[in-house]
Amino acid sequence: MSAKIIDGNQIASEIREELAQKTRVLTDSGVRPGLAVVLVGENPASVSYVTAKERDCEKVGILSRDIRLSAQTTQEELISLIHELNEDEEIDGILVQLPLPQGLDEEAVIQTIHPDKDVDGFHPESIGRLVLNLDGFLPCTPHGVLKMLEASETPIEGSDVVIVGRSRIVGAPLANLMFRKASGGNATVTVCHTRTKDMAEKVRQADIVVAAAGRPNTVTADMVKKGAVVIDVGVNRVEDATRKRGYRLVGDVDFESVKDVASAISPVPGGVGPLTRAMLLWNTVSSAQKRLERS
Ligand code: NAP
Repeated sequence: MSAKIIDGNQIASEIREELAQKTRVLTDSGVRPGLAVVLVGENPASVSYVTAKERDCEKVGILSRDIRLSAQTTQEELISLIHELNEDEEIDGILVQLPLPQGLDEEAVIQTIHPDKDVDGFHPESIGRLVLNLDGFLPCTPHGVLKMLEASETPIEGSDVVIVGRSRIVGAPLANLMFRKASGGNATVTVCHTRTKDMAEKVRQADIVVAAAGRPNTVTADMVKKGAVVIDVGVNRVEDATRKRGYRLVGDVDFESVKDVASAISPVPGGVGPLTRAMLLWNTVSSAQKRLERS
């Protein structure tokens, strides 16, 4: 039997509707949620990501302040811009699109964003709060994965989860969210990486598999337990001469074979990506809500 497809576009669209409603209420109360989107340089993938984020803001009614800087921008100029945005009362969230051009210190930039406006959830304070199970911004991709599991009615509590990848933006925070003693958590989590021995054997034990390695075919059908739920975070370009642009996007999971073993699976594209963007709006709206409560 073929797996149920977890439709990220559909889930994200429902979340955006909910956020549009909250945005209307906030705006009527005099606090329109505002997001600053900072892009340095002209990396084509980054340009398309920020354009999509700005379009999302428009759909939901969030004010989007689009700031495009040249690749020659200095560290001092970027830091000074972030200080200005930290003080800007119209701005509830600051997103600096990564990666930054060479020569700019990403870590210093992330740490300059005020934790109250850290809607990407990358600031050490946000990460600390997540680990300590305190209220704070959740990073968008792991939060999106949880929303997909919730929407597909996949029980997390008590389940065995294998996450392939331990990056600070996906694998590591997702592992923390899934094992913490809280709603949406309480799973037993194994995190695999390039030094993991017998990864296939570990993945085969999982009720839920999350692939976030950045390499096509990292998870294949022989590695997946029958009936497991598989979430594919990976986004990889593979050459495809039949496409006008010369490539197509694939995930980390061999979708065609795994869909015959799994009970549910997310596709690429149209899976985690739309959720990542929706959770950025979610964080911006919740930041605006806090601004209203403070006023
Ligand atoms: P990353 O920083 O490169 O981390 C990749 C992780 O996967 C590392 O921990 C690495 O292990 C591990 N890994 C790589 N190859 C492996 C293999 N063959 N076996 C086991 N582990 C392996 O990447 P990332 O930023 O987390 O992103 C991962 C993927 O998700 C990328 O394709 C990225 O484009 C995509 N992504 C998608 C979204 C979305 O919204 N859809 C958002 C973020 C990222 P080591 O630590 O040992 O190196």
